[in-house]
Amino acid sequence: MQYHFIGNEAHRSTSGQHIPVIDPSDGQVFDQIQRGTADDIAAAVDSSRHCYETVWSKLSAAERGRLLMRLSNKIAEHTEELALIEQRDCGKPTKQARADALALVRYFEYYAGACDKLHGETLPYLDGYSVLTWREAHGVTGHIIPWNYPMQIFGRSVGGALAAGNVCVVKPSEDACLSLLRVAELARSVGFPAGAINIVTGFGHEVGDALARHPGIDHISFTGSPTVGTIIQQVAAQRHCPVTLELGGKSPQIIFADADLDAALPMVINAIVQNAGQTCSAGSRLLVEHSIYDALLARLGESFSNLRVGPAAMDLDVGPLIRASQQQRVWDFLSDAQVANIAMVAQGQIVDEAPETGFYQAPTLLRDVPVHHRLAQEEVFGPVLASMSFRNEDEAVELANATKFGLVAGVWTRDGARQLRMARRVKSGQVFINNYGAGGGVELPFGGVKSSGYGREKGFEALYGFTTLKTVAIKH
Ligand code: NAD
Repeated sequence: MQYHFIGNEAHRSTSGQHIPVIDPSDGQVFDQIQRGTADDIAAAVDSSRHCYETVWSKLSAAERGRLLMRLSNKIAEHTEELALIEQRDCGKPTKQARADALALVRYFEYYAGACDKLHGETLPYLDGYSVLTWREAHGVTGHIIPWNYPMQIFGRSVGGALAAGNVCVVKPSEDACLSLLRVAELARSVGFPAGAINIVTGFGHEVGDALARHPGIDHISFTGSPTVGTIIQQVAAQRHCPVTLELGGKSPQIIFADADLDAALPMVINAIVQNAGQTCSAGSRLLVEHSIYDALLARLGESFSNLRVGPAAMDLDVGPLIRASQQQRVWDFLSDAQVANIAMVAQGQIVDEAPETGFYQAPTLLRDVPVHHRLAQEEVFGPVLASMSFRNEDEAVELANATKFGLVAGVWTRDGARQLRMARRVKSGQVFINNYGAGGGVELPFGGVKSSGYGREKGFEALYGFTTLKTVAIKH
């Protein structure tokens, strides 16, 4: 049985109810979490406020940095344990789960070093004035986290907020929160004061909603679906609470005929099968210059056919989807493809060892997906790649920009001038040229445009979002 983590203590929910924790690899219940309530959120916010007023805001930036660094080191000692927890909770193959735990180490390392480097400015102004700007913490920040990368999203969101001088009330996904409850214990063990990190588990429409509505929350960092992002934005608007929204994507991989295909194809595959396609930045649309379209799809199809899907602990190319309803969602998209006569080029194989009760989906490559079909417009959040061809650069740009999203784009070409033109013309928060994701570095600001959200997380840029600027003008 798992409990909320409030004030450095395990905290039973006032609901007296639990939510089962299911292993996606076999569909079996293996643990229980608390079904939180608005009262639990209120207790967490009170505890965090007290921490902020009495301890956290009194620490020097260097002291905060040392605490974050101690947490990074402690997590580093526990990466294998955390990876195993996340593997069971989310169905992540071992390599992915380990990469996520190591990313968490790096997030806290990076933000530890950033604490004492966040500063304001002095501004030239009228004679007789001195004008300063200060970056001040919001205070108590709320963090609503999805299930696809709990540790990574906690690292970038909570790490940045703490570094900027805030304390955090965290609402992880009801589908994946075990690793974060353990990280909170590790934070306590290295000396984090009670209330600096509080975690309340439960359903989004109950605790997530209560968190977004609570007047004691000074800033909300939301990562999740566009639908819930809209709700959060509306709720926060009632009290003018600032929000950062990291939402979905339908990101294009754009391949020109002069691209280095040996470099591109493994990344095209990885970008759609990593985490079973349940990645906000999944490269889920493949746009290929028509002269190489057929040959490229033949090559890619062969690779797709060789992809193996199975239980997380087998550490194959692809693990299970998070839950039965997600599997059903992917099936619905694929049956729509059939109805629309969209051709399937290839599918990977689900291994015999995969239990029938697990939530498996073979990676699927589709061709000539019409640009307005929902497979080319909506986030599937599964390992399904929708491909289409283009005749020239203008058409590539038009197709790339033809969705409501704007999170990531990959552009593959050897032509330097075209690289820059494409980077300018494609509407998205990130453009990766001859790579995809740039290794996911914490140093690189990350966020969307259009319905992919606004505000930036990661990098130093995130710290600006986790602070508010105060202008101080002194007349001498
Ligand atoms: P989701 O929107 O269903 O849930 C996200 C979080 O919001 C969960 O903790 C959930 O409990 C909570 N929630 C649900 N309803 C709520 C409500 N009414 N009020 C407050 N909180 C509520 O998303 P998900 O299915 O967990 O995650 C997948 C989505 O997240 C995808 O759309 C994906 O693209 C997106 N995502 C975006 C990024 C990014 O950086 N842009 C990263 C990861 C995931």
